[in-house]
Amino acid sequence: TQSNSRDRELRERAAAVIPGGMYGHQSVGLLPDDYPQFFERGEGAHIWDADGNRYLDFMCAYGPNLFGYAHPEIDAAFVRQLGQGDTLTGPTGLMVELAETLVRMVSHADWAIFCKNGTDATTMALTTARAHTKRRIVVRAKGAYHGALPWCTPRPAGVIDSDRAHQIFCDYNDVASLEAAVAEAGDDLAAIFAAPFRHDAFIDQAEPDAAYARKARELCDRTGALLVVDEVRAGFRLSRDCSWSRLGVSPDLSTWGKCLANGHPLSVMLGNEKARRAAASVYVTGSFWFQAATMAAALETLRLVRETDYLERITALGDRLRAGLDARARAAGFGFRQTGPATMPLFLFDDDPDLRKGFCFSSEMLSRGVYVHPWHNMFLCAAMTEADIDQTLDAAEAAFAVLKRQAPALGPVEKLAFLSGAH
Ligand code: PMP
Repeated sequence: TQSNSRDRELRERAAAVIPGGMYGHQSVGLLPDDYPQFFERGEGAHIWDADGNRYLDFMCAYGPNLFGYAHPEIDAAFVRQLGQGDTLTGPTGLMVELAETLVRMVSHADWAIFCKNGTDATTMALTTARAHTKRRIVVRAKGAYHGALPWCTPRPAGVIDSDRAHQIFCDYNDVASLEAAVAEAGDDLAAIFAAPFRHDAFIDQAEPDAAYARKARELCDRTGALLVVDEVRAGFRLSRDCSWSRLGVSPDLSTWGKCLANGHPLSVMLGNEKARRAAASVYVTGSFWFQAATMAAALETLRLVRETDYLERITALGDRLRAGLDARARAAGFGFRQTGPATMPLFLFDDDPDLRKGFCFSSEMLSRGVYVHPWHNMFLCAAMTEADIDQTLDAAEAAFAVLKRQAPALGPVEKLAFLSGAH
């Protein structure tokens, strides 16, 4: 069994100097008790926790790790530029090169505005759409995550009504509810926001319905509102282009972040010609938004996106994982739902409203060196190998066996009691 004494000690110290001990979804507060909070290292597809335990990491830092932690070429580009200048009085030429690169790669894009976090990009998209239309309302799907500012945070604390004003919610993939929301917006619709697919926490993921995507485009064309696809989480794991290009739908704006520089902090809003004037008119900036080293890392990351078969490989690995888990779950007699794209899977057990089975399974995987998540979508990275997937399947076989023995005696997961009420 693994040691966790250093993690316990860090948590105690954190409780004194970090409110709540940790915040955001990177807090392990809603994960099984044995999940480590603190890490010390990442390399390739693996992470080491603060006690030195090593895990094959299916969270990939919640997305940023696409080509492997501490990727030699990407990090060399970063370090090279760091030595020359990073946060300067203005941007370097790398910014122009990076914008040109993205405009070449993403079919709907004619320009780029860089920032740091996904929330910077989504908020900028909202502001740009309002500047473009001189209207107020955004229509977006219930439960879809677009960031952590007051207009979009999933938690209500500290948020006042006016922060959330001028938003109308629809059901993802439900054309009638999208049309009703747009009708309700009347002549005040500024934007429709859409996730590339439904990747909400705690529930099954869903591929985007092409009719829903086309309807969103049509409603924007009819009303003059802007269509925004939020690729922050899914970007480059479904396509080398904006993922809705696969549905034949071209947004006006798209937002990207997370893996854009393989873990170095960078996000971007991309837009088409129609939105250029509005984008130029909004005042947006940040002290660190022009950092050159991160842009060097992004150029190297995007080169790997274009020049390697990473997408085909992670898709094949995801398919291998899905088929293998499906067979093992079935053999053990579990209804085990694997939803979403193969490169971004989510696992939920049938008849498991408070996730007691999911918690037990995840803990058993963790103790076998495989870091999976019981209620959030996961991510594959290009540093994973077939051997890693096979190790995962061996761990799963053992985990299903333990779960089968323990399931009848499992108690409720107290920390997730709120789920049973909500579902
Ligand atoms: N949009 C989506 C779809 C996301 O998944 C996230 C991050 N989980 C964000 C926006 C916000 O990104 P960030 O945390 O970098 O601000």
